[in-house]
Amino acid sequence: MPTSTYDIIVLGVGSMGAATCWQLTRKYPRKRVLGLEQFDIPNTRASHGGGSRVIRLAYFEHPDYVALLRRAYENWEALRQQSGQQVLHLTGGLYLGRPDCDLVAGSIQAAQLHGLPHEVIERRDLARRFPQFHVPDDAIGFYEAGSGLVLPELTVGTCARLALENGAELHAHEPAHAWEADGGGVKVTTAHGVYEAERLVITAGPWAAKLLGDLQLELTVTRQVLAWFWPKRPELFSMGALPCWGVDLGTTDGHEGVLYGFPMWDGSPSNPGLKAALHQPGEPCDPDDAQPGARPGDEAPVRDALSRRLPDAAGPLLALRTCFYTNSPDGHFIIDRHPRFDSVTLACGFSGHGFKFVSVIGEALADLAAAGDTPHPIGFLNLKRFQRV
Ligand SMILES: Cc1cc2nc3c(=O)[nH]c(=O)nc-3n(C[C@H](O)[C@H](O)[C@H](O)COP(=O)(O)OP(=O)(O)OC[C@H]3O[C@@H](n4cnc5c(N)ncnc54)[C@H](O)[C@@H]3O)c2cc1C
Repeated sequence: MPTSTYDIIVLGVGSMGAATCWQLTRKYPRKRVLGLEQFDIPNTRASHGGGSRVIRLAYFEHPDYVALLRRAYENWEALRQQSGQQVLHLTGGLYLGRPDCDLVAGSIQAAQLHGLPHEVIERRDLARRFPQFHVPDDAIGFYEAGSGLVLPELTVGTCARLALENGAELHAHEPAHAWEADGGGVKVTTAHGVYEAERLVITAGPWAAKLLGDLQLELTVTRQVLAWFWPKRPELFSMGALPCWGVDLGTTDGHEGVLYGFPMWDGSPSNPGLKAALHQPGEPCDPDDAQPGARPGDEAPVRDALSRRLPDAAGPLLALRTCFYTNSPDGHFIIDRHPRFDSVTLACGFSGHGFKFVSVIGEALADLAAAGDTPHPIGFLNLKRFQRV
């Protein structure tokens, strides 16, 4: 088999991998970079399909997420300037629920702690300003003007284009069958050859546990359903009238988790209509076995929750699509060096909330691979927190 040599190989050119390739070629232009992707770049079979992702700053789960997000916003702007593509659109973000639910209480806490501009909207004002929502009498709202949406397929495609223009080599439809590392570097084997490099970055999304079998990562891949509806009153749900939104469903009316969605928007390259989904882990699956596409029964849970909380939105169904979450045991990302191989960096377990961070995670991974360290605060996402040995 032919052998080719690079400085850094990125295994998996999806969300994090494409951004890593872009950041590597942007910050470390002398490095010879190879990206290997098993499907298209971008593709609809992994975790970056579906047309839109929420971005918000008031993260409460750990204080360092906010520091990462501040850098992410800067990098999203750098991506716009370098590519001419607008992948981030500010729409504002509205989160509704009882005052003590994580979504609302946590967002308020994070906004206060980090001095983030925000509004707390009392129940009576909610009804006036956002008549689209039917929420319990004791619900309140948290509004963040800096929230919005990111276009995932356009992001992956744009990062890949910039990386290619900067000299990276990207191979689609070339799955990595195996990798190995020793003191001298790394080798990755595909059906087309063996690639050698000094460093390897593994950004394989739902396939991470398979490629990192020796680490016995407890990652649960789940099948997530996205639905698009044509509202009964479309004027209430278009950009301008509606921000990005999320409603805590509590546990009292038969649902758990958060119902969330996006305003309808002419500029959306995805399906027409109002997009809504449930943010809670779906059915566990093996990403190699799961059939892409919708099944009977996929619509009902989303329609049911939508009918209760945004009844005028729950008109005829326009589309159903599926996508994978890769859930870590604690819901936080895993970004670290491989414990046995210093030359290997891994990033996985983004647990359904990683896309907004793509532009900064790509930079942190590029730093780790090319410079051995990063100034960005990723220490709390270490692998050691799960390791039994
Ligand atoms: C329905 C849904 C809604 C979401 N909503 C939000 C949101 O609103 N906000 C937010 O911030 N995040 C959201 N997320 C989460 C976010 O999209 C993910 O966290 C992020 O896309 C994960 O990126 P990744 O690079 O780990 O995976 P991916 O984007 O899946 O990239 C991994 C890539 O590696 C490739 N690969 C795997 N194995 C191999 C191999 N052996 N050889 C070559 N290539 C390989 C795969 O084909 C894939 O392209 C959502 C996710 C889903 C599914």
